[in-house]
Order: sequence, then C-alpha cells, then structure tokens
Amino acid sequence: MFILLLGAPGSGKGTQGQRLAERLGIPRISTGDILRAAVKAGTPLGKRAKAYMDKGQLVPDALILDLINQELAKPEAKDGAVFDGFPRTAAQAEAVDKALAAKGHRLAHILLLDVPEEELVKRLLARAGEQGRSDDTAETVRTRLVVYQQETAPLIAHYAQRGGGGGGIVHRVPGVGTMDQIAEEIRRIIGR
Ligand code: AMP
Repeated sequence: MFILLLGAPGSGKGTQGQRLAERLGIPRISTGDILRAAVKAGTPLGKRAKAYMDKGQLVPDALILDLINQELAKPEAKDGAVFDGFPRTAAQAEAVDKALAAKGHRLAHILLLDVPEEELVKRLLARAGEQGRSDDTAETVRTRLVVYQQETAPLIAHYAQRGGGGGGIVHRVPGVGTMDQIAEEIRRIIGR
C-alpha cells in the first residue's frame, strides 16, 4: 500500500510517517532525510541541494525526480511505502504517478496533516532549538511555509479531483492533539 503524507513543514509528517511505516511494515521514504544525509556526506547531490535547503527553498525538480525514481525502484518499496515530504510540486506528483503505475500501483491514501499556521511556526522554532536544523531559523521557517502554500498545497486539489469514487483518496487529519490520537485517527482512516 502506497500512502502519501501531505502537510506543511512542522505538521508532524516525519513522526507520524515513521509510526505508520513501522506499523504497516513498509519503508518510509523521506526526501528531506535523504537530502540531509547527502549534505552531511558531501555527495554531489548534497552539494547542489544545500544552498536551497538552507534558504528554505525547494531543491530543483531535476534533482528530486532522479531521487524519487531511484527510491521507488528499490526492492523494499516494491509493494508499499509511506511518502514523507514528496511529491512537493506538480512535476514531482506526475513522476510519482508514473513510477507507481510502472509497478502496477497507485496511491491508496493521501493523508493531509492539518495544523494551524501559528502552531506550525511555534513547533518549527522549538525544533530549531532541539535538533539544530540549519533550516529552522525564523526567516527560513517563513519561507518554507510560503513555499508550501505556493508549490505544494495545490496538490491537495489535484488529488482531490482525481477522486476514485465517493469521497476520493484525500483525507484531512487534524494534526493537533497527542501523537497517539493522531496515529489512531490515521489508523481509522486507512482501516488498518
Ligand atoms: P523536509 O525535511 O521534508 O521539510 O525537507 C527539508 C528541505 O529539503 C526542504 O525545505 C527543501 O529544501 C528540501 N526538500 C525535501 N524534500 C524535497 C522535495 N520533494 N522537493 C524539493 N525540495 C525538497
């Protein structure tokens, strides 16, 4: 089962994605984690991505599309995965659809973690203190939220339109509450 977690930076995608992937026994694929690892290791991808990440901007699609195709071609992602942090643009969404179709699959669920903006800012700035991420500064946080609204939020309408009968495959999950409450709501929505 392929599941996409959508939501603004700070909405809890990473935490819930990890829990969900573990529970279902499928990998969680996070382009953010892969990029941070690449930056740390100083790979060519990391070197090209770093400046964008530090500014809170999206890494260009040309780099991300390769990454997505590589990850989805891995044997461990043969039958399912939780996608965290991608697709983030229309071009990425198209690449995901194509890569899944090539395996005879499609996205089963899209979970939209919905958190009010004031709460997002609070969380991201708190995380800056805890994890020391170089992109959690006040200015970068603002940029990332704007980029999310401009580039990524339109994907919600794109997927909602696709439908698939009844209410479609996009489910809004209130992203405030305890981690357990949110995880339980996700379990209820996907039915396992
Ligand atoms: P994240 O941890 O998902 O918030 O990602 C951190 C940063 O990595 C983002 O602000 C972007 O600069 C970059 N990034 C991660 N995933 C993507 C993606 N799918 N497309 C473009 N840039 C990305």
